[in-house]
Amino acid sequence: MSLKDIIFHAGIVGAGGAGFPTHIKASSKVDFVVANGAECEPLLHKDFEITKHFAKEIISGMNLMIAETSAQKGYFGMKSKNQEAIDEVKKYIKNSKIELSELEDYYPAGDEYELVYETTKRLIPAHGIPLDVGTVVNNVETLYNISQAQKGISLTEKFVCVTGIVKNPSTFFVPIGTTFRQLLDFVGGTTSREYVFFVGGIMMGKLSDNLDEVVTKTTAGLIFLPAEHYLANRMQRTTADMNRIGKSACDQCSYCTEFCPRYLMGYDVQPHKVMRSLGFTTSGNAIWNEYADLCSTCGLCSLYSCPEDLYPREACVQGKEYLRNEKIKHIQPKEVKIHPIKNGRKVPLKKLMSKLNVTLLNYETPFQNNFPIPKEVKILMKQHVGISAKPIVVIGQKVKKGELIGKIDENQLGSLIHSSIDGIVTHVSNEFVRIKSE
Ligand code: SF4
Ligand code: SF4
Repeated sequence: MSLKDIIFHAGIVGAGGAGFPTHIKASSKVDFVVANGAECEPLLHKDFEITKHFAKEIISGMNLMIAETSAQKGYFGMKSKNQEAIDEVKKYIKNSKIELSELEDYYPAGDEYELVYETTKRLIPAHGIPLDVGTVVNNVETLYNISQAQKGISLTEKFVCVTGIVKNPSTFFVPIGTTFRQLLDFVGGTTSREYVFFVGGIMMGKLSDNLDEVVTKTTAGLIFLPAEHYLANRMQRTTADMNRIGKSACDQCSYCTEFCPRYLMGYDVQPHKVMRSLGFTTSGNAIWNEYADLCSTCGLCSLYSCPEDLYPREACVQGKEYLRNEKIKHIQPKEVKIHPIKNGRKVPLKKLMSKLNVTLLNYETPFQNNFPIPKEVKILMKQHVGISAKPIVVIGQKVKKGELIGKIDENQLGSLIHSSIDGIVTHVSNEFVRIKSE
């Protein structure tokens, strides 16, 4: 079986982003394979921990991808500050096509456009993907999963980081479909009775209060903050309130644009202009929203750059939605060219954490290898980019860990789904399959 088929049958999707099916990337021919270990979300350290403990498997997965895509070279992107993980990587890349790319500690170093430029020096065209410049990018955990698939192990566990105001901040493997409540129990609960939590990160994740949500193939981690934290208040505002405040308070200083990482790479993203659309809702939407089209929604403009504490990122999200609905695509007038001041405007992670008021919560999150088998899991049929898988099990059926429970055809964009525990199926719908542990 080809590596592409092995990856498809193991149900692997990108572990570090939206869950793009990895077998599609494995079927391309490229010049470079880039490992993304540039974790830049404040407080999350899962990529560091998995690399520190499983560098051998990650490099094995990367070598498999290099061979499958006929790449001439691999770049392993890792921040210089993560020296213990770097030392591990160095052990396994001697006499290989892989070169270590040490990165500075800034946000958003892990953005694909940034990482591809920092490692290969190639600039992805506007609206493009790494493949357009002969590159595939895989998160380090995805590469670990590829090495497991080669051994016949399907994707049933997710590596997560649980941190913030919890008793034992940690990283660990957890069966897919486990509730957030069980993750919180495992780390000893919170140190404060009133809390909120972010799923996937403060900058690009979402605020939640639902501990019954479950782990998917893309869950990076949970960050618990005190309920009175300024970020909790800020993120709980309604869109209407964000827009109303933005419309009256934005003074068009343009700091949001001047520090925008995409703007500094030469893409025509200008959030200060998008903010104008809040005041020109009937006549200006199409004009000003176009400047949101190439936004990565990294959040830097809203959570760092704006001196008025406004919501330019959220305005860009609305702008992008407007453009999608109207089928408008912004045509970049100039060629993509790095702004001469880009390096001088990189935002150090320490500075960002200070602005977010989370510096004191930047705990180590050591790897724990003893997460208990949950009594029950709820496995979603859509955890990835593409179509939902269709359940192929029935209530009362006994299943084994790793057994196929959700299917798509090989020519469709999507992913297979496997049981994450041994047990009995207790619920089947198009949305999810519930399995009770035996
Ligand atoms: S930084 Fe804030 S105040 Fe300045 S233009 Fe952007 S949104 Fe408006
Ligand atoms: S969220 Fe803001 S800073 Fe980030 S890419 Fe979009 S406009 Fe730029």
